[in-house]
Amino acid sequence: MLRTRQCSKCLQVKPIGLFSRHKLCAGGLNTVCKECASQYHRLYYVLNKETLAAKSKKYRELNKERMAAARKAYAQNNPLAVAVSRKKYKEKNREKLLAYWRARYHRNKDANRESRRVYYRKNKERVREKVKQWYAKNRQAVAVRQKEYTEKNREALSAYHKQKYRRNREQILKRNAEWHKKRLINDPHYKVRIRLGTRLYQALKYRGQVKKLTMLINLSRGWNGTITGQCGTWIIFAHARLLI
Ligand SMILES: [Zn+2]
Repeated sequence: MLRTRQCSKCLQVKPIGLFSRHKLCAGGLNTVCKECASQYHRLYYVLNKETLAAKSKKYRELNKERMAAARKAYAQNNPLAVAVSRKKYKEKNREKLLAYWRARYHRNKDANRESRRVYYRKNKERVREKVKQWYAKNRQAVAVRQKEYTEKNREALSAYHKQKYRRNREQILKRNAEWHKKRLINDPHYKVRIRLGTRLYQALKYRGQVKKLTMLINLSRGWNGTITGQCGTWIIFAHARLLI
């Protein structure tokens, strides 16, 4: 036979499964049914919202360290459960969280930048290594995104680079020249490549000028066929380079 009990509040007779346990009541069960109890708790909460909030705030403040330690211990013992619940929370509150993160980012923009800078200065090698690893891992995705971005912002980017170059022209040229000089000394392959390139360029450039040059040479020949004058010297020089 199903055991029942009458609720002292709604006076309905219900199976005992619908009453929660209560040590001090007769039969170890609450005198009011679960539904009435929950209604009562809800009402109590609404009527005493502020007092309850203040109370729990005070409790949290008083037991800050103890609660933090308990949370930490729980997280250590149940990493999977924590990860799952965190993910669920993120999914459920996505919009709210995004708005919150965005607001926080803008609020602390300058301070964040400064602290990042300080951190980078202290951990240069570590940060660089991490960035390198990340890029190696996401190479394809990065390339795709970069391409999309470049195509979308072509004009703005070109204007930006031009302006940047104009602003830092001297510095850039100086840096490039220094780099070039250093590499000529340290990298024999580079040296050969540059020399060959230069010579090829000159040869191609002057090949178009051969006709003109020959004409000039003939023009600057003196009565006995020798080449004279300053112009003539330059022509011989140019011709000599052509033959290299
Ligand atoms: Zn009831």
